[in-house]
Amino acid sequence: MKLVLLGPPGAGKGTQAQHLVSSVGLVYLASGDILRAERASGTELADQVAGFMDAGRLVPDEIIIEVILNRLPDATLGWLLDGFPRTVRQAVSLEKALIDTGKGGIDGVVEIRVSDAVCIQRISGRRLCPVCNRVYHTHASPPAEPGRCDDDGTALTQRTDDHAEVVKERLRAYHETADPLASYYRDRGLLQAIDGDRDAETVKMAVMNAVAAIRSGDISSQAQLGGR
Ligand code: AMP
Repeated sequence: MKLVLLGPPGAGKGTQAQHLVSSVGLVYLASGDILRAERASGTELADQVAGFMDAGRLVPDEIIIEVILNRLPDATLGWLLDGFPRTVRQAVSLEKALIDTGKGGIDGVVEIRVSDAVCIQRISGRRLCPVCNRVYHTHASPPAEPGRCDDDGTALTQRTDDHAEVVKERLRAYHETADPLASYYRDRGLLQAIDGDRDAETVKMAVMNAVAAIRSGDISSQAQLGGR
């Protein structure tokens, strides 16, 4: 199964993706993680994307399209894309690349809808272990010892683009492209929209129901219910 996960920063896509990947058995590809890894290893690409990322703006389509399409997993594997596509142009490029390489189209798109207020609240408390990448939240899922990773004791950090001003810009950038992108997939009968303002367990169930509907080819009835 080839799936795309849509949702604003702070929608809980990473948490939901982790669960989906382990329960459904998919290869996970997150555009933000790929760009951050490039930056950590100081590649040429890192120089091109750093300014956009630090300002919370989208990296230009021509750069991100090449980065992701070069990394698309083998056609025989199921995969889940998180953070890509973010614009209609990226979606069209993805569709074209899949057709050109005989990989077939994507099977479905799960959109987690979350209000800006909830996104800001979730992102401001987000902390990350720089060694094992485990994600914590200062209130919702704090580590046993404040500021330290439970797994390896490393001091937790905050993503530079998780600071308040940058988050506002990331949300603005998201809204600019999110609606046309959701419409693009809705028009193709691929979109499952879910109310993500609820607790993680409830959203998890809704995501699993959406994926079950995609798997059985019964997208329209679920989409009309909004995955609730
Ligand atoms: P994320 O971890 O998905 O929030 O992405 C972090 C940052 O990476 C974004 O704020 C953008 O600067 C950049 N980025 C990630 N994915 C894309 C994309 N599909 N198109 C453009 N920029 C992206």
